[in-house]
Formats: sequence, structure tokens, C-alpha cells
Amino acid sequence: MCCAAVLLLPTTPAHAQSSGTALQTALESLSIEQMLADIQTLSAPAFNGRQAGTDDDLRSALWVQEVFRTIGLRFPTVFNDRLTVPEVSGTEGSALGIMAAIVPVPLLGSNSVVRIGTDDQFVTAQLTTDYLPIFDSPGADIQGPIVFVGYGIVDPAQGIDDYAGIDVTNRIVLFLRGKPAHAQHPVSHADKVRFARDHGALGYLTATGPILHPYEATRGVTGRPSAYYGQPPSDQAIPGAWISTALAERILAGSHGTAPDRLRTLQAQLNTTSATRSSRTDHYAALHWKSTTQDGLLTNVIGLIPGTGPDTIIIGAHRDHFGQPAGLLFPGADDNASGTAVMLEVARTIAHSGLRPQRTILFLSFSGEENDLLGSRLYISRPLAPLSATKAMINIDHAGIGSGRLTVGVTGLDKSVAHQAGETAGLASILDLFGFFPGGDHVPFKEAGIPTVTVVSGGVHPHYHQPTDSAETINSDILRMVAQYVLSLTVQLATGP
Ligand SMILES: [Zn+2]
Repeated sequence: MCCAAVLLLPTTPAHAQSSGTALQTALESLSIEQMLADIQTLSAPAFNGRQAGTDDDLRSALWVQEVFRTIGLRFPTVFNDRLTVPEVSGTEGSALGIMAAIVPVPLLGSNSVVRIGTDDQFVTAQLTTDYLPIFDSPGADIQGPIVFVGYGIVDPAQGIDDYAGIDVTNRIVLFLRGKPAHAQHPVSHADKVRFARDHGALGYLTATGPILHPYEATRGVTGRPSAYYGQPPSDQAIPGAWISTALAERILAGSHGTAPDRLRTLQAQLNTTSATRSSRTDHYAALHWKSTTQDGLLTNVIGLIPGTGPDTIIIGAHRDHFGQPAGLLFPGADDNASGTAVMLEVARTIAHSGLRPQRTILFLSFSGEENDLLGSRLYISRPLAPLSATKAMINIDHAGIGSGRLTVGVTGLDKSVAHQAGETAGLASILDLFGFFPGGDHVPFKEAGIPTVTVVSGGVHPHYHQPTDSAETINSDILRMVAQYVLSLTVQLATGP
């Protein structure tokens, strides 16, 4: 353990005035080069895409821990439920700055084969362009006729049953992602897999429909298959793949392609009424891949700058990504080496600035975000500062690419707080302030009653959950903006009332 001497110095009497000047100096001293270098390191093949629970997770955690040490952050002592982490555990099983838990780690083999076609012509689908297996899918060795089942929803209370009057036994169902606007109740991907399995389906294909929700369109959602975990527990799971919208359209268009707009027409009908539009297709699918699930060590890394008072704020970013499923490397540069690099640079800058926070600033590098927020849920289950004294959590995700605007989601705080931080950093005109965003490591904190601010670069993220999300695509101007905003917000929340 080590700490920068400056953190232990008493504050100067002119603290209030000097902190404003110190913040301006700090804002100017943020190093874009350092953030780009950190993104380069984390997204390089050496870390294999940082899948939660793998050795790469631990190695990337130890790398972050070393950066924290170099910066001069303090490490809290963490007790990991009698779990010893050989690389970091002390004599009594405690670990400095590493919070760990055993989690299931889905591993998907590199020889997946998906073939789709009519009974006289099967075509091998292309991995990434045409399909991606769902990454926590069971192994697949199945073949069957494809049945279209709309959005794949069964909800009698709302008069929706996409399986009514259609037999899917020993067939492969094809359902659209999401739900129509008139369906009020939430429905998860795992729910849809359960419905398919309960009706006897062997497996499933899912695709984004050709008609996008306006919000999806502004976020640049495409028809491409995407990296995804979403299966129910293994005893309820069946094999499934995300296919491209184009491939789903070909399946619905019929063997001679005579109805190219059929999927769009069906989706338009599904979006207006709850009537069932399910039907058999004249296409077949064959899905083959191997997968296993093994236990592995998930690791959050925690460093801190102590405050003068009893309260804490948290600044977090997830470090994990999808690893190397199906033999593909997912570098995760924008998602979320970028947010990690911003967090590290904000920590570095505050530690070297001479700013003395009133509230302790806890820097948290989460794992397991891509896998149902396992890392942030773990922290909430074993908080290192009382949750009642945790005054805010700032989450940074997707900070490296976009439109040049900042999307900020605020819960439990007045939006003026988030706006003020933008004013201070000279960025108020590019902020788009919203309320709660579902999805992300802020969610468990919000659910625990802690105010949250989520910072995401606005606009289209074209490499979202794709193997092309690499360091070369990162835009340094966007990175600078996010870092300036987060630094301003962190200092405001750590020194303010
Ligand atoms: Zn992600």
C-alpha cells in the first residue's frame, strides 16, 4: 500500500478559492496521450478481451491495481468471503483493493457452424456477418424447420401469445428482439428462451426487426448480430444465435425470395395489434457449436483518495468485455477500456492536483458488467463504505467514440448538479441530460438508493459489441470531453455540500 504525500497534507486556509483554480489547472492537465495509451494496453490481444472470470480478468485487474499504486491511491482491505486470491491475498485471506467472487464463465468453442436454407439448398452462414451464437448458449448440435413466432412473447394478461395455434415442437423458432410498444410488461431475452423451450422448440434464432424504435435509430442500432449473454439458467436454456436482419428477411421472403418485404410487413402488424402473426417458413436451420461453463474468479479493483469527512462518492467504470468467444477477439476499446482510461486519468489528475476532497473518492474498476452486472452487484452486496454514507455514484461507459455530445443520465440528484459540472468544465452546451438509463453498473447503485450519474458519449457507437471495437477507432477529442466532464463532476461532488 502506498499513498501520495500530497493527500495527507492539511488543507490550506484559502481552500474554497484555491479549489476552483486547482480544478481549472487539473482540467488543463488531463493527458489524452495517457488515456489513449491505457486504452491501447487494455484492448491489446495480450488481455484477450478481458472476459469476466477468466485469467485475463485477473491479469487486467492486477494491471489496474498497479496503475492505482503508481498514482498513489490507497487500497482498502477487502475480505472475500474466505476466498483466497493467490496473487493478492494476505495472511488472513484479505486482499488489498481486490474484491473477488467465483462466477460461472461461459466459454464458446471456435468451430461454430450455422447453415440455413431450403430443403434443396443449405448455405453456410458467415460468423459475425450473418450470425453470432448467444455467448452463454449451451452447445448446439441441432437441425430443424424454422418457425417465425413474432416477438416470441407469451403474456395472456395482455392478450399476447405468439405461440397460439402453431406447433414448434422439435423446430427452431425465429423471434424478433425487443417488444412492440403496445406490450406494456417488460420481457427479457431469457423469458423468450423459456417460452420457446416450454413449447418444445429445439433452439432459436433472434434478429433485430427492420423497423427500429426511434431511440434505437438515434443510437445507430444496426441489423448486425451482436455479442450478447442472455440465456436463462442452464437447466432452462436451449441453443440460440443472433442472426442479421438481412438473413431473417431472406428466411421470411420464401425459397425464391418472392416476398422480400414480408418480415417488415409482419413486424408492422405486430407493432400495431396483439394478434398472432406466427407461421412456418420454408427454411431450415442447422446449428453446431461446442460450449462449456466453468467456475472462475471475477475481480473488481478498488482504490481511494481519502476525504476529510465521513462521506464517500464512487466513480466507476467496467473493465470486462466479451473475451474470445467463437474464436473471435472482442477488444472492447470503446466498451469499456475508454471509460476505464477516463477513470484512471481522473484519479491521476486529482491525486496530483493538490485538491483535498471533503468526501472520500472510491475508484472502482468493475468486472462482469457484460454478464448481468455481476461486478457492481457484488460491490453492493459487500460495500466498502456504508451505503448510507455513499452520496453519489458516477459511472462511465462508452467514452471513446460518438457525436461530440455527452449523454448524462441522472437519478436521485437534481439535474442542475450535472449541469453545473458542465458549466465549470465549459461543456454545458454539449450536455444532454436525462433521467434513469436501464443497463449499466449504475443500476445496482440506483436500486440501493444511491444517487447516480451515468456518463456516455452521445451519438452512434458503430462498433458496439463487435470485434471491430478496437483502439484505432477511438476519438481523442471525445475522450478529452468525457474526462473533463467527469473530473469536474467528481470534484464538485467530492468537495460540495
Ligand atoms: Zn458492453
